[in-house]
This record gives sequence, structure tokens and C-alpha cells, in this order.
Amino acid sequence: MTTTPRILIAGAGLGGLALAQALRRGGLDVAVHEQDPTPRTRGQGYRIHIDANGNAALRACLPAETFDLVRDTSGVNDDVMGAYTHHLEQVMVQHFPGITDDLITNVDRDTFRQGLLTGLDDAVHFGHTVTGYRITASGRVRVEFAEGGADEGDLLVGADGVGSAVRRKFLPHAETRDVGLRCVYGRLPLAGAAIPAEIAHGFTWVSDGTGHGAGFAPLRFRSSPHGVPDYLMITLLASPERFGVPDEDLFARSPEGLWELAVKETATWHPDLREVFAQADRESFIPIAIRAGRRVQGWRPGPVTLLGDAVHTMPPTGGVGANTALQDAETLAAELLAETPLVEAVAAYERVMLPRGFDTIDASLQMAARLFDEAP
Ligand SMILES: Cc1cc2nc3c(=O)[nH]c(=O)nc-3n(C[C@H](O)[C@H](O)[C@H](O)COP(=O)(O)OP(=O)(O)OC[C@H]3O[C@@H](n4cnc5c(N)ncnc54)[C@H](O)[C@@H]3O)c2cc1C
Repeated sequence: MTTTPRILIAGAGLGGLALAQALRRGGLDVAVHEQDPTPRTRGQGYRIHIDANGNAALRACLPAETFDLVRDTSGVNDDVMGAYTHHLEQVMVQHFPGITDDLITNVDRDTFRQGLLTGLDDAVHFGHTVTGYRITASGRVRVEFAEGGADEGDLLVGADGVGSAVRRKFLPHAETRDVGLRCVYGRLPLAGAAIPAEIAHGFTWVSDGTGHGAGFAPLRFRSSPHGVPDYLMITLLASPERFGVPDEDLFARSPEGLWELAVKETATWHPDLREVFAQADRESFIPIAIRAGRRVQGWRPGPVTLLGDAVHTMPPTGGVGANTALQDAETLAAELLAETPLVEAVAAYERVMLPRGFDTIDASLQMAARLFDEAP
């Protein structure tokens, strides 16, 4: 590219921020527009597993000191994954030796997002809900914000997550479908808590054989800059029928109401697991409907593209949605920073991103089927 293009990114989530870091590092003009009013609006406390692809993408996108900050505020590395019955009978345990301290294997979502925001204060604009876009007479892209105001650039990247406003306008035929699973999600502060040894490390899947599955994973910070305490992530998954709660009720429940549901649904589980649910932070529970994107055909490349969940939403069962969004950021940044015309750079990115994203959705759905021993 001969002139410095202005890149607009809708969404300061994990993929959008990694992309902004890489483009800023490469000297491009970047503006990120995020609907959250402030960087600290959300406090969802998820633990996110970062795999080898995510590590490579973060190293490629972030300045070395920001990568070090993200790693130093990530979770202590664990090298084990296990599966148990709800009576804590072992189904399988797998160790992953050779995970060194320079790698990131797990992060707290909010802490990770704070790390990715490092140095981007002037590029990220909070309180800007992108409502859509239009292509101007000169072929540029103009976005407008629900709160008022607008911005114009040479490329718009929709990194605005599962409900993407950019995707709705760009690919109105693209759908995400309900995979028939609901997730009740919370956490248990580790200080002083009694945790059975079987779920105290790495990631553990517990299944009761009747359609309920639970994931447990501790996050022990190497160092926590915001004073977030170490915690055990708790997820309970089942179909709405298994939960016996219609969506109107599930999504209207208070955090404590969701905690009560989790306690009730696990009432016949091993006493040590019941104790984990009993001790959990009642205010931390949130409901999630699990969705997956349907494969879409490629399109004619132009001044709008998509990244991450905005184009390939996937169930969390593979633990790869964020890693794939980070890979998208790495691929798109590499193409945009190469000396090629912008539309060719976007085309090259989409040729890699689309098959990779949709293959990863398929793999995550297969993993969901294995975890529940049935096709979702
Ligand atoms: C329960 C659960 C557990 C998970 N665990 C893992 C895991 O262990 N490993 C893993 O790799 N993945 C995991 N994932 C998936 C991962 O969270 C997502 O794939 C990842 O966050 C996608 O990144 P993104 O940047 O595409 O979207 P997001 O991180 O969702 O960011 C989208 C951003 O866009 C903003 N936005 C939305 N609409 C607008 C708008 N109109 N205008 C402006 N801004 C807007 C949002 O506020 C948000 O900040 C999990 C997901 C869930 C639900």
C-alpha cells in the first residue's frame, strides 16, 4: 500500500484489540469503536484457555512488553485435563508435559482485555455502539454510533462478537444457530475453599450421564494487577429441557437464582462436588445460550470484513473461539502490513480466515457431541 490507510475496528474485544495492537505497531492509523461505556463495564470473570495458536498470534500482534504484561498477569500454567463421572470416578486424565513458563495457558477474560488495551488509550473509543455502515461515494466506509457521531476509514473490520451489527448488514443471510445447550456460569474464590483434588488443576469435565456436564478450572494468577482473587471457574451445561427452565425464565433469573438452579441440578452429585457449588460466589452466576455460526460462502472482497465471533461463533466446548479470533487478528494484520493493495490484503485474509474459522466450528461441535455423548 502506498498511503497509510485508516482502519476502523468495531468492537474492543479480544480479537479487535489484538488487531489494533498489531496495526498500531505496524504504523497504521487505527480507531476502535466499542459499545461498552468504559473499559471496566464488564466483569464476567471467565477463564479463557489460550493454546499454542493463541500464543503465536499474541506474540505476532503485541509489542514484546505488552506480551510480557499479559503473560505475567495470566494464570499459573497447568498441564492436566481430566474427565470424571459425577461420583468423581475417573474416566480419563491426560498430562501435557513441556509447558514452559514463557507460554500463556489461561487468562482471566477481563484482566486479559485490560492487558490488550495497553498503549491504545487514544485509539479505543468507548461508548460508541456501531449501528451499521455505508460505503461513501469515494469508496470509503462510514460508521455511525447509536450515541451520536460517526467515523470514516478505508476498511471496516467487524470484530463486534456474536451479535455483530456489522455482520447483520454485510452478510444478512449469515446465521448463528442455537445448538440446544444452555450454560450457567460462575466462580468460587479459591482462598479458604475446599476443592476436591480431582478438579483442583487444569481443566476437568464432569458428566452425570443424564445430559448435565460441568467444567471446572482454577485460575491462579501469576500476579493480578487489579486485585482479582484466584478463583475456580464453574460451568454447568445442559439442554433447556434438562434444566427444565424455559429461556424466558433462565435469562430473567438473578445471579442467585442461577446459582440455586446449579445447586438443584447437581443435588445427587458427589458430596465434594456439591460442596463446590454450595461455596460458589452466588453473585457471580450468569446464563449463556450456546450458538454456532453456519458456514457461509466467500464474498467479493471490499472495504468491509469480519473477524472472530462476528463471523465464526462457536461453542466454548473446544476452548478455541478466542484463540481463533487472535489468529484472525494475526493473519489480517500481516496482510494489511504487507505492501499490497488493501482489497488484495483483505482477500488474502478471507481466503485463510473463512475455512479455518468454519473448520474450527465443526471441531467444537464434534467436541460438544463427545462431551454429551450425543450429536448436538
Ligand atoms: C462460556 C465461554 C467460555 C469460553 N472459553 C473459551 C476458552 O477457554 N478459550 C477460547 O479460545 N475461547 C473461549 N470462549 C470463546 C471466546 O470468548 C470468544 O470466541 C472470543 O471472545 C471472541 O473474540 P471476539 O473478539 O471475536 O469477540 P468478543 O471478545 O466477544 O468482543 C466483541 C466486542 O464487540 C463489542 N461490541 C458488540 N457489538 C458492538 C457494536 N454494535 N458496536 C461496538 N462494539 C460492539 C462487545 O462489547 C465486545 O467488546 C468462551 C466463550 C464462552 C461463552
